[in-house]
Parts: sequence; structure tokens; C-alpha cells
Amino acid sequence: MKKKTQLIHGGISSDPYTGAVSIPIYQSSTFKQDGVGNFTYEYARTGNPTREALEKLIADIEGGARGFAFGSGMAAISAVVHLFSSGDHLILTDDVYGGSFRVMTKVFNRFGIEVSFVDTTDLDAVKAEIRPETKAIFVETPTNPLLKVTDIKAVSAIAKEHHLLFIVDNTFSTPYWQNPIALGADIVLHSATKYLGGHSDVVAGLAVTATEKLGEDLHFIQNSTGGILGPQDSWILMRGIKTLGIRMEEIESNTKAIIEMLQEEEAVGKIFYPGLADHPGHEVHQSQAGGFGGMVSFTVENEEKAREVVKNVRYFTLAESLGAVESLISVPPLMTHASIPRERRLELGIEDGLVRISVGLEDAEDLVDDLRSALRK
Ligand SMILES: *Cc1c(COP(=O)(O)O)cnc(C)c1O
Repeated sequence: MKKKTQLIHGGISSDPYTGAVSIPIYQSSTFKQDGVGNFTYEYARTGNPTREALEKLIADIEGGARGFAFGSGMAAISAVVHLFSSGDHLILTDDVYGGSFRVMTKVFNRFGIEVSFVDTTDLDAVKAEIRPETKAIFVETPTNPLLKVTDIKAVSAIAKEHHLLFIVDNTFSTPYWQNPIALGADIVLHSATKYLGGHSDVVAGLAVTATEKLGEDLHFIQNSTGGILGPQDSWILMRGIKTLGIRMEEIESNTKAIIEMLQEEEAVGKIFYPGLADHPGHEVHQSQAGGFGGMVSFTVENEEKAREVVKNVRYFTLAESLGAVESLISVPPLMTHASIPRERRLELGIEDGLVRISVGLEDAEDLVDDLRSALRK
């Protein structure tokens, strides 16, 4: 089955009980048993048919054994971290999502889980960080906001050699363009709030395990800690996923048009996009993903100019988040990355005049004209 077909016919694509082509929202917390212990579903934290349909769907489209749906991306990430114990050490990409950084350094540190943040685009740096207590490598690729690319296959080989669990946050590329399990990942994570939902109307997280055994472990955590996604949001997410392919194709083509314009504009300095041949991660990304996505960052002269640009656009909405039908624009150093000290930001390459866009599904010409005129104002 090809990807676009799988997005529609993967998982449980019609309701086995009624034949409904759209899986019903089973708004039920508990289920009648035909005699003690004789049931398909017991209690909806443990399993709910609507959530299960979504979980089977994401497992299918990521090419994994088991899928799990959570109340947010952070709940999915936190559930996965619960697989580890006090004294364990994890290696994370140095510019992981801010929420992942926060939960590791302000919450899980209190439970004795140690972390190192390293530039995972540098394989020697990854190897150098492995200690006897190291249990996992957690990467995000491409990253936010500089779209740094980690070689999934190469890091997977390092993880295998040292018997480490390899976890990939695949939010930016989506399972339409990139399937980390096929490249050696053990667990794939998504903030489904972004491209998978795709319409700025649901907060959700997904996790997929490569093996049934890991799936059992993660189901135990999901059921024990309870951060599940409700049936209504599970349904909304399934509806979003059906059109993921066509959205990603269109977003990619809109992004191409915008990049061409940005390259011509005098006000624009650097452009960060893995689709550009001079992007340091271009070749690796091309080898592991089918598309480059709709996230682009670029620099303008300074913070003041960045503020001007985001004020003067009409069709780009000034907001955090990404991956929806609406094009969004933000200034990471003033918004998502404001809590990082300026010196550290500059070290990471996040300049004061950095602008980030999440390209949506509006007409390409409108988007190009809009951003161009905002840059020229
Ligand atoms: C948004 C995001 C998260 C967190 O997801 P929520 O659904 O907001 O909890 C994790 N990783 C990445 C890459 C994200 O963009």
C-alpha cells in the first residue's frame, strides 16, 4: 500500500461493529462484560475503540508494531521517559523542542534521570557522550528553528552497538515524509498537534514502538500513568491524518515558491531549509526523507526588522506552533526561544533577527506577495 492510500485505509479503516466508514466516537468510559473477565474493552483508560483505531493507524503509517495516543506531545514524550529509571542517563539532541528540554531538566531530573544535550548531527560527539549508565539516544530531526538534520541510520547504528534505545521525535517531517523505524529507530514520537492534526484544532501526542515487546512496556506505562487521548480528539486526529499526504505535497510546493522569493530579497540574510543544497543537512535529509517540509527560518537585519516583518504580513498569522492549514510566522528569539539566554542563543545560531515560518495551504502567490511586501516595507 502506498502512503496516501495507507493514510486512508491503514489501521482499522471502518467500524467493525457497525460498518461506519468514519470510525464512531465511542464516548464511553467503561464497557459491559459478558460474564466476569469476558470483554474486548474493559475501561477506557486501558483501551477505547476510537482511540484504538487511531493507535492502529499511526502504528501502520510509521511501520511499527504498536501505536499509542496521548493527551499531548509532551504526554507522549513523558510516557516514553517513564520507561527509564533513576540513575539512567539519556542523550538528547541539543536543540530539542523547548518542552522536551524543560521536562527533562526540571521534572525528570528530580527523579534521578540524567541527560546530556549534544549536537547529534556530530556522530563523534554522540559517541563521546555514552557512559555505562546511558540507556537511550533521543533525537529530533529536523530541529526547530534551524532545521538541523541528524543522520537517523548512523545514530541508530551507534545505539545498536551500545544496546541503547533509539527514540526519534518525527514531528517536523511527519510519517508522510520520514519513517524512522525503517531507519533503525525503536520508538517514534509525534506532537500530533502539528501536521498530523493539521487544522489548529487539537492538542495530541502519538508514540509508535518498533516491536510488540516495547509496545507492551509502553502500554503498561500509558495505562499506569494515564495520559491518554480522549475519543473525540482521537476522531479529530484521524480525520486530519486522512489528508496528510495531500497537505504535505501542497505545503512543499508552496514552500518552494516562498524560498525562491526569499533568495531574491535584499532584506533576507541566511535561509535555513533542508531543501537548499547549501544546507549542511541537505544530503542526509534527502537520503532519509521523501520531502523537505514546510518549516523555514531566515534572518533579517535585527530584532526591530523582524518585529516589523511579522507586523506587516496579512496572511501569515503571528503565533507559536506549526503544521496547520494556516501559515504561521514567529520570531523564535522573542517567542519560543526567549527563555534561552541571548549568549547561548547566539552560540546555537539563533540570531536576533531570526524569523520562522510554517507554510500553510493558502494560495502560493498570495503568500509570496504578502511576505515579499512585508520584507520590503
Ligand atoms: C510541539 C512539539 C512538541 C510538544 O507537543 P505538544 O503537543 O505541544 O505537547 C514536541 N516536539 C516537537 C518537535 C514539537 O514541535
